[in-house]
This record gives sequence, structure tokens and C-alpha cells, in this order.
Amino acid sequence: MTGLRDIKALDRARMAAVVGEMGQPPYRVRQLVRWLYARGVTAFSQMTDLPSDFRDRLDARFVLHTPVLADQQVSSDGTRKYLWTLGDGVAVESVGIPAEGRLTVCFSTQAGCAMGCSFCATGMGGLVRDLTTGEMLDQVRLVGTDFGQRITNAVAMGQGEPFANYDASIEALRLMNSPDGLGIGARHITVSTCGLLPGIERFAEEPEQFTLAVSLHSAVQATRDRLMPGVRGFKLRMLRETLLHYVESSGRRVTLEYALVDGVNDSDAELEALITFTRGLLCHINLIPVNPVSGAGTERPGNQSIRRFADRLVASGVETSIRTERGVDIDAACGQLSQRHQA
Ligand code: SAH
Ligand code: SF4
Repeated sequence: MTGLRDIKALDRARMAAVVGEMGQPPYRVRQLVRWLYARGVTAFSQMTDLPSDFRDRLDARFVLHTPVLADQQVSSDGTRKYLWTLGDGVAVESVGIPAEGRLTVCFSTQAGCAMGCSFCATGMGGLVRDLTTGEMLDQVRLVGTDFGQRITNAVAMGQGEPFANYDASIEALRLMNSPDGLGIGARHITVSTCGLLPGIERFAEEPEQFTLAVSLHSAVQATRDRLMPGVRGFKLRMLRETLLHYVESSGRRVTLEYALVDGVNDSDAELEALITFTRGLLCHINLIPVNPVSGAGTERPGNQSIRRFADRLVASGVETSIRTERGVDIDAACGQLSQRHQA
């Protein structure tokens, strides 16, 4: 790689500073953002409404990378999984999920992940590196281009922990939302975190109406510690308090993700703890029958048990849905994304 800086790693404020330093008027920032993210040009020379000397100076100072498609798999249900090669050769995955007039793109915020959740393929490989804002935007835009469809929803549920890469992830959400970027409604942009409390606290103060999903997976401390060793330091009691504050400050409800693992978090005691955790918290539970990951040794409960777990939550007044799995046949479902290239 060259020693030049990656222009798509800059946030808007830093881009404004660069534009100012180069003696250009402030409206050039919007033009640049549009070229980079809405249109996705691959060279500064294609930015035809910018003065040519400005383009040349940008070219001399920055690199402009676009992920290259290394592999694509299509599921029998229409879900598509993409493997991208980034500017430095690092690989990352995204998933496109079409459904009645909607197109949801699940994007990665890191290559790999350091959190080590026991049921997750991404966690098994450890963290490779954080992704830049542009690398997140590009995944979403390129999937939309491949489908030839408007992107209606974006979810940060691919590889990585978005709040372990907070600034770049939030800037990406903003650009996905911006009319100069991808123009996706803020409420249709969801960030999923394993529960890094400082990140949730910051997120509560963001003015946009983005949706927050938190991976809970168990409301029993010992079970959660075992399933999610990376967040052992953030106790359930603190998580609950932080979520109460989030709801109060944002006025938004939170989604709690709960991957059901047979014999681990589907017992009556687990159910009771979950109901207690949700009492007085504006939330919605999304049950995910755990997806198979080789080497994880985790199995999903039978359909009957899943249904029963869901019914009992609903009967206790907890809003609950069971996530329909998509793309399992191509390992594109939750937790199945890894660094491995399909042979
Ligand atoms: N790191 C973030 C976002 C990416 S994972 C997080 O953990 O929230 C997206 C969702 O998939 C999370 O709820 C995660 O716990 C869940 N998940 C991971 N592995 C899974 C598996 N094997 N089956 C079902 N869901 C899984
Ligand atoms: Fe990381 Fe999320 Fe996977 Fe846990 S579930 S290892 S936080 S990507």
C-alpha cells in the first residue's frame, strides 16, 4: 500500500478541514460526499464537477479504494452473501436480504471480532482490524447495486462489534442516512451491540433515530458470562440501567436479541430471569434459533420448544418475535460470517 491517506476514512468534519485547507468553498464537502458515497466513483478524475486542480491535489494526497468482490453465494431463498477484498487485502463479508419490496443489507463493522462469543463464527477467528467508514458504506452501496434495488434497511449485524469501532461506525450510519449518501431512513438503520456500555451511553445521545439492538442471550449472569466472555466486565444489572437510560433519553425502544441454545439458555429459570430483566424496560425480544457454526458445539432447541419459549414471553406481556432465518444454506445467517473463503 502507499503511504497516502484513505479519503473514505475521514469523517465529515475532517473532510471539511481538508477542503478548507485546500482553499475550496465549504459546499465542496457535499459534492465530495456525493461522489464518494452516493455514486461510488473509483477515481478522483471522475468527480467531474470539481475543479481539475482540486481533483489533482486530492489525488496526490489521498487514495480511493473500493472493495473488490472476491466471492458471492446465492441462497435458495434469494439471500446473497458477498466476500470483499479491501484495499490492504483484508477480507470481509456482507449479506443482502430481499423481502417483499424491501432490501436489507447486513454489513460488517470490523474484520473479525475480539469479543469471542462462544456460538459465533466471527468471534472464533479473533479481530483482524477495524473497518473504515467508507468500507462500511461501500458494502451497503455495492450490495444495493448488485440487486439493482433501492436499499431500504441497513443493519450492523455482520462481522464485528460496532461499538468497539464507535466513531467510524456512527459516521457510516450518518452517511447511510444522509441524502448525500444512501438516503436510508434513520429508523431503518439498526446497530447491534454485544453490550459495550460506554457505546450504548454515547449512542443514547446521538440525535438521529437509529435503532438499537442489544445481544442479551441470557439474563442469568453466569450463563451470559459463559456465552459472551468479552462482556463479562459489564454486568447485567449495569446493562439494564444503561438501557433504561437509553430509552428515557432517546424515547426509543430497544431490541433484545436472544439466540436460543438448547440446554443453555432455554430453561424455565432462564425464561423467568429474562421476563424479570424486561420488566419496566421498553423493549422487544427477537428470538434467534442459534445457527449452526462448526466447532461451536451449540444446538438450537426444537421448534416446539422455541414456540413455547416465545408464547410464554408473550403471555407475560413481553413483545416477542422469532427471527426468520435467511441464507442458512450458504452460511450467511447470524453468526455464520467468518474470515474463511468458501472453497
Ligand atoms: N457484534 C454485534 C453485531 C454482530 S452479530 C453483536 O454481537 O450484537 C449479530 C447478531 O447475531 C448478534 O445478536 C449475535 O449475538 C448473533 N449471533 C452470533 N452468532 C450467532 C449464531 N450462531 N446464531 C444466531 N445468532 C448469532
Ligand atoms: Fe463479535 Fe457479535 Fe460475534 Fe460476539 S456475536 S463474537 S460480539 S460479532
